[in-house]
This record gives sequence, C-alpha cells and structure tokens, in this order.
Amino acid sequence: MLDIERIREDFPILRREVYDRPLVYFDNAATTQKPRCVVEKIEAAYYNVNANIHRGVHFLSQQATEAHEAARETVRAFLNAPSSAEIIFTRGTTEAINLVASSYARACMQPGDEVIVTAMEHHSNIVPWQLQGMRLRVIPIDEHGTLDLEALPGLFTDRTRLVAVTHMSNVLGTVNPVAEIARVAHAHGVPILVDGAQAVAHRAVDVQAADVDFYAFSSHKIYGPTGMGVLYGKAEWLDRIPPYQGGGEMIRNVSFEHTTYNELPYKFEAGTPDFIGSTALATALDYVQRIGLDAIAEHEHELLRYATDRLGAIPGMRFIGQAPEKGSVLSFLVGDIHPYDLGMILDRLGIAIRTGHHCAEPLMHVLGVEGTARASFALYNTKAEVDALAEGIERAQKMF
Ligand SMILES: *Cc1c(COP(=O)(O)O)cnc(C)c1O
Repeated sequence: MLDIERIREDFPILRREVYDRPLVYFDNAATTQKPRCVVEKIEAAYYNVNANIHRGVHFLSQQATEAHEAARETVRAFLNAPSSAEIIFTRGTTEAINLVASSYARACMQPGDEVIVTAMEHHSNIVPWQLQGMRLRVIPIDEHGTLDLEALPGLFTDRTRLVAVTHMSNVLGTVNPVAEIARVAHAHGVPILVDGAQAVAHRAVDVQAADVDFYAFSSHKIYGPTGMGVLYGKAEWLDRIPPYQGGGEMIRNVSFEHTTYNELPYKFEAGTPDFIGSTALATALDYVQRIGLDAIAEHEHELLRYATDRLGAIPGMRFIGQAPEKGSVLSFLVGDIHPYDLGMILDRLGIAIRTGHHCAEPLMHVLGVEGTARASFALYNTKAEVDALAEGIERAQKMF
C-alpha cells in the first residue's frame, strides 16, 4: 500500500487553498501536478548545466548533452523500447501524432487513403489525419464504452494505411487492448500508432510486448514538465519516413543544392530541443517508477471503485463509461444539472473537475450528450477527497 500522506508532501501545490478551502484536484487527465524533485531538477539544470547541446566543444555543453541523452535512455527503458535511437523528443502527444501524420503521409499515403481510429479518440488523434486528407473509419463502442473489436476486421479496405487508437480514453477511462489491435492491424499489413497520453501515468507500458509501431505520450500528464513529449517509433518506420521539420540538428550536410539528414533520432529533432524539459521528464519517470506503476494502479483502482460506489449512491447519477477495463477517470451527469453549472459550484468548494467535451467531440455525438463532468484521479488523491466531491455534488443538487 502507498503512504499517500507522504506522497502528498512531495506535491507542494496540494497544500494550497482556493476560495479559503483546501484544494481538491481532480483534473489529472488534463494535467498532473509536479513533485518537488521535478521542479528542483528544472531549477538546478538552469542554474548549473545550461548550455546548448550536441554542438559544443566546451565542458558545460558536453554535460548538458550527456544529461539530455541520459534522459532519452530513461524514456527508452520506461517504454521498454529496443533502442534509444527510436525515442524522439517532441512538444507533446499532439506534436508526436502530427509528426507521424505528416511524415508517414508523405512517404506512404495518398489523399483519400484511410486511417482506422476508435469512436473515443481525442481531437489530436483525429485532426492530424484529416489535415493530410485521410478518411477516417471508426471502430464503434458498446453502451459501456468498450470497443467492439468484432467490427475491426470489416473496417480494412485496400486503402487502409494505418490504425491509430488511444490506449486509454480521457473521457470514458476505457483501456483498449492495444496488443490485440496491433495483431489485427499487422495481419492486414498495416502499422499501428497508439496515443498513450492517458495510459502512461496509470499502467506499465511495454512497446515491444504490445508490438506497436508508434507510441506517443506527453510529459505533463505523468508528473513531468509541460511542453515536452515523446514519440517512440520502430526504427524500420523512422528510417522509411522523411523528416517532419527542417533546421539545425536534423541534418548531416547542407548545401544550397542538397541536404542529407542526420541519423535517428536526430533526423526528427529540428532545432534546439528542450534539453532541460527532457531531464525533468526523466526525473518524473524515475519518481513514478520508484513508487511503482503497479502500486499506483492499485491505489487508483481502489479510488475509482470507491468513487463509483460513493457517487453512484447519489440519486440521478449517471456514469458515462463503465468498461470492465477502466483507468481512473470518472465521467458523469447528475439529473438535469448542466455539467458546466456543476463544475462552477464545485469550484467554489475548492474542487477542480473538468466539464465539457474533453477534446472528444465526435465521442459526445456517439454518446448523444453535449458534454460530461469528469473527475480524474492521480496517485496523490484520497478517499476523503472523493467524499468532498460527493458532498459537493449533493449540495449542488439541493440548489437546483
Ligand atoms: C491530453 C491528451 C492528448 C493531447 O495531449 P497534449 O499534451 O495536449 O499534446 C491526446 N490524447 C489523449 C487521450 C489525451 O488525454
């Protein structure tokens, strides 16, 4: 069992008050809070090892380069990728998916080709494909929010070029069987990209065991700094597709007539990277692994179970997303209270939840709702906070 009170000590922001009430932070699916070690890492890096990487002959530049490349190795081990050359630093999940969409499309797609996605995708795994002129075919969900995998084989056509699915839904909490989906994709000769933005903070990920071709995630959703993200790609694909952006760092030789590209992963990292964000992300991943993803998953699962029982006892409560395989996200509607009104009332009680379409408008259409209220849990949340949420909802009910 985790010592949650001790863990909370690592997150100074959890001690603050809003409207003279203790903060209850249940918006972790949007971004997580940062432990002291991550913030201190950033400060220490700027004070002690700030120098541009890879180009410098001087001591400081070499130290900064070593730290950045050590961070890449930490990410590699975290995903169990075969090689750190397959780890590309990006600004986040969104940029990672745009990178693949743009580069893969240039090498392997024609306008009108098809990408198979799920009904529960975030906009950042929808719009990049549309920008490339791709048509989307959609794996449907059942009434619990579970993917209907029997429908998947029927979605492939001779124009299917990619399967792009979320590992865990930021609205429903559904965890999708990506290894199984990868097998089906590969049986049809098509690679698979997985949007891991929600999944990584809640369960151990092994890109080799799942045999996925691309895996994207954001640092800020796993207790790391914002503006930093990761794309894992199999070397065979990264070698085949062209660079995403041009500039310094991604080149081997440049002349006015012709440019040759750098080796992996630098071919995809144009310009000065966030070499301090990368080291702070590594610190966050070390922190998570010190606590243990299995222990985190167990704690969050217990919180989800408790919250489902406690909130489920409130008259008029309707949960959106009750898949058997589910991470710590609870979307709900209460009677005919508009989610936005509920969010406003809870905010006044110091409770931060999210309301609206959660960047998944097509899913809202499928569900036939305008939006939901969403509480999402992280490793530092407690049952007492869930009680506060339930009491807040009951209070809101009395006002309506
Ligand atoms: C947050 C999120 C994204 C986008 O991540 P950014 O950090 O905004 O790039 C994509 N997919 C899912 C499932 C998310 O939860």
